[in-house]
Amino acid sequence: MTFAEPESGRAVEPESRIVLGCIADDFTGATDLASNLVREGMRVVQTIGVPTEPLSLDVDAVVVALKSRTIPPAEAVAQSVAAARWLKAQGARQFYFKYCSTFDSTPAGNIGPVADALMTELDTRFTVACPAFPENGRSVFKGHLFVGDALLQDSGMRDHPLTPMTDSNLVRVLQAQTHRKVGLIDHTVVAQGATAIMARMGSLMASGISIAVLDATTDDDLRRIGPALKDLDLVTAGSGMAIGLPRNFGIAPRDVAGRLPAPRGRRAIVSGSCSLATNAQVADFQARGGAAYAVDPLEFQEDPGSVDAALRWAADALQAPNAGPVLVYATAPPEAVKAVQARLGPAQAGQLVEHALSRIAVGLVERGVGQLIVAGGETSGACVQALGIRQMRIGPQIAPGVPWCHAQSPHAGSEGLHVTLKSGNFGAADFFSSAFDLLDGKE
Ligand code: ADP
Repeated sequence: MTFAEPESGRAVEPESRIVLGCIADDFTGATDLASNLVREGMRVVQTIGVPTEPLSLDVDAVVVALKSRTIPPAEAVAQSVAAARWLKAQGARQFYFKYCSTFDSTPAGNIGPVADALMTELDTRFTVACPAFPENGRSVFKGHLFVGDALLQDSGMRDHPLTPMTDSNLVRVLQAQTHRKVGLIDHTVVAQGATAIMARMGSLMASGISIAVLDATTDDDLRRIGPALKDLDLVTAGSGMAIGLPRNFGIAPRDVAGRLPAPRGRRAIVSGSCSLATNAQVADFQARGGAAYAVDPLEFQEDPGSVDAALRWAADALQAPNAGPVLVYATAPPEAVKAVQARLGPAQAGQLVEHALSRIAVGLVERGVGQLIVAGGETSGACVQALGIRQMRIGPQIAPGVPWCHAQSPHAGSEGLHVTLKSGNFGAADFFSSAFDLLDGKE
């Protein structure tokens, strides 16, 4: 699959047809959605950006991962429409615009403008908005979004650096972002099931409403809503709504959905996350006797050769007979990170580490690593880019929101590699070992 100007995707006939085409406004959110669809039985590919060549894998859904949450609205619209056109060319019958379950947006967008543009592109008069993800504590009641027990406006999202959410009333929040009329289908209707929800959609439409916020506080609500969305061209939602849609296409949970090629090659972990969870995971890996090498951002700055030294260490460790997984990590406790940031500045420290770890990941894959764990959201972005990965088949879930994936890379052999991208606070302390156990079929 190659990437070029978005429009060219329309000209070529796809080799396989999908049923559901998803557009996600950030990378980890895309994986989260993809993973939920796999759990419900869909075979899913996630692409990084909008591809231009037709899809070559036989799957049920594609999630196009954009980075459009906080870019200017016009750019988010252009990218999302390009994604919709490509997905349409692959056969998508229904489209899913996926945003964060905390409805991350600013008064200018980008949820409203993107939903508007997709409705125009798909020539559709009505859609819904449902960020609820009860499994993760996100629920919508009378149009108000709750994060755990707190209203959105009283949650940590109030102080988000890029998308502070100071109003929990989603009808009001969305109305401020779109010229279309926004309404509500509340829990009393949702509780009555699909027929009642569809009837309400009809009456809202007749009264001039184009987008309906949906109440949902439980997975049962999402499963009741699912069949009511069967005939919509466009659904806008968090990743939770994924549990309600596959059945509309006659798809039920099945093992084949998450089946990946047999794992091969050596095993490695590259960790640039400094979250509490990742610090515990690095400590757990070492406590189990795993081979680990700490890298130091200050050293990277003073001696560029230190990246090669880390790579040599890891390559040697992998040569040992019966070598287990090796870990190269910049992961450090908060005091150490602060000290480095005070010397280098946070941005430069981050860049140095991301550049070094992504070079190490590429070097390891070139030396036969076929099973790679990357810890850290930004670190993952840097590694995926350096490895030239453009699409990933989504496999079984290691921890909520973190699946194993299989990808082709110009740096790997023709069989490709297994990779998992774990952002910050995801996963239990034994994540690294349980991830490899899962590939081994031990779990
Ligand atoms: P997370 O998902 O936990 O937020 P990220 O990879 O997104 O992890 O972000 C961690 C950032 O911290 C990256 O930019 C990484 O390069 C940087 N970093 C990693 N280790 C250190 C360190 N020891 N000192 C300073 N910055 C670091």
